[in-house]
Amino acid sequence: MRYTQYLLPTLKETPADAEVISHQLMMRAGMIRKVAAGIYSYMPFGLRSIRKMEQIIREEMDRAGAIECLMPMANPAELWQETGRWEKYGKELLRFKDRKETDFCMGPTHEEVVTDIVRNTVKSYKQLPLNLYQIQTKFRDEIRPRFGLMRGREFIMKDAYSFDLDDEGADAAYSKMYQAYRNIFQRCGLNFRAVEADTGAIGGSFSHEFMVLAESGEDAIVSCDTCEYAANIEKAELIYRESKTPPATAELQKVDTPGQKTIEDVAAFLKAEPRQLVKTLIIQTSEDEVLAVLLRGDRELNEIKLTNLLDVDWVLMADDDVVKQTTGAPTGFAGPIELKVRVIADSEVQAMADFVVGGNAVDVHYLGVNLGRDFAVSRFADIRQAVGGDPCPRCASGKFESWRGIEVGHVFKLGTKYSESMNATVLDDQGKARPLVMGCYGIGVGRTVAAAIEQNHDEQGMALPMPLAPFQVLVSMVNPKDDAVREASEQLYRQLLDLGVEVLLDDRDERPGIKFKDADLIGIPLRVTVGSRNLKEGRVELKVRASGEMSLLSVAEAAQAVQQMVDDAL
Ligand code: ATP
Ligand code: MG
Repeated sequence: MRYTQYLLPTLKETPADAEVISHQLMMRAGMIRKVAAGIYSYMPFGLRSIRKMEQIIREEMDRAGAIECLMPMANPAELWQETGRWEKYGKELLRFKDRKETDFCMGPTHEEVVTDIVRNTVKSYKQLPLNLYQIQTKFRDEIRPRFGLMRGREFIMKDAYSFDLDDEGADAAYSKMYQAYRNIFQRCGLNFRAVEADTGAIGGSFSHEFMVLAESGEDAIVSCDTCEYAANIEKAELIYRESKTPPATAELQKVDTPGQKTIEDVAAFLKAEPRQLVKTLIIQTSEDEVLAVLLRGDRELNEIKLTNLLDVDWVLMADDDVVKQTTGAPTGFAGPIELKVRVIADSEVQAMADFVVGGNAVDVHYLGVNLGRDFAVSRFADIRQAVGGDPCPRCASGKFESWRGIEVGHVFKLGTKYSESMNATVLDDQGKARPLVMGCYGIGVGRTVAAAIEQNHDEQGMALPMPLAPFQVLVSMVNPKDDAVREASEQLYRQLLDLGVEVLLDDRDERPGIKFKDADLIGIPLRVTVGSRNLKEGRVELKVRASGEMSLLSVAEAAQAVQQMVDDAL
């Protein structure tokens, strides 16, 4: 491709609404342009990376035995009503009517459509296992679209769905996909972790998220510094090997704590550490229960763990009225003593004695508080947020390290949730109808390219790894008006094309400074500069974008040498 015939609108300035580096660079390098909030056009240069990502995914999915198909964006409401998701999905589901007033939605995911295909075409266990995938545009009316392709409303996803006769088969399908995902992200040259994830409402089954490690990531994850364990913070388990309650040594004592509101304030006022306090949260559940939850003063509640523990749809912090009704005091002074509601405590609290709690009255706290003696706990459980330094639940010696991550992929064992609600069954070898056991597996295509930029950039611009870079080599013609330079560049360009290398020829009549700035910004992995001084000695200059390494190549061997470097990097 010739730069002069291409559309590569680079920007000097960073667009004001681009918060993260990948969004800034994708805009500045002319890869994407915004059409509406969370809706982008893929410009020619960006589309090349997107297509490469898709191709890597396709190859690994095919290799794992999945079969490609393509389902529609417009989904009839009927199918979504069968699973109950037409009502449940909420506002992310973009609904619309056709001219006959029939309800439709834009598919945010395709369990309904694919299950419909399979129930109509697969009748016998002999047709299993089956794994259907597509690479397709999804629409989710995200509440906060942001970060460019990272969280769009319209975005490309690879989604795959496996169908098996039994759990064993479904587990095998899951591990094949898990391995395929590892291969995909490895081939992209990404630093990632596969982490255990919460399975939410479906429960019981298992799920992993593939996280690209990056400061800008929206997810918090922990991994063990010794063994393989890694988990989303929403899920990360904590176990307590010591949970014996120490004996009480202090008397219960009521104290005034005038004007002290936060845990830190109260601790400082009482000359204690936040970890010697127990905080009491008043919680409401989807089942209309109000309960008190106790945590060590310096810990945070993990609402997902609590939701799962209580087996409810959601939990939330009670509002001021409910707190007042429950504790008799405004929010901020709750404590477990003489409380009339169920009390659930984090396991860590079980090992505490002589602690401080709220007094259920303004500016009052209790000191020397002890479990059992002063109040009762109906249940101890792991309900707090894990943090770096916590002990690993799997191995005896490891500690958690904490990271930020971008979720680029998700593998999920669904079980029979969809096959049962949609009556998708097959006949087993006894002629008996059985619901299919399903799995679903997603990868965000644009999000993965964005995550790769988050991991591969510097002050000057992006440096995408070879497998995802829009072009492999940039040939920079320093002065197109110099005949020798032009001829040598043109020849190198043709040779590289003949060798099957993806090459962009910067044949613009621009100052070298501008060309080099653009080259660093768009970050094509290899740059060959053809300039008159080196050319007189029969040489061209090679620069590796990621490392900045420079070397000279002989004109005669340049094309071969470059092709070799490209091959080595793929
Ligand atoms: P998130 O928690 O980030 O919203 P999700 O759990 O809703 O993700 P899935 O339904 O598992 O995502 O979708 C599969 C994959 O699709 C995700 O791993 C992610 O890579 C991608 N994805 C999801 N939502 C978006 C979005 N709004 N924009 C771009 N990619 C997305
Ligand atoms: Mg989402």
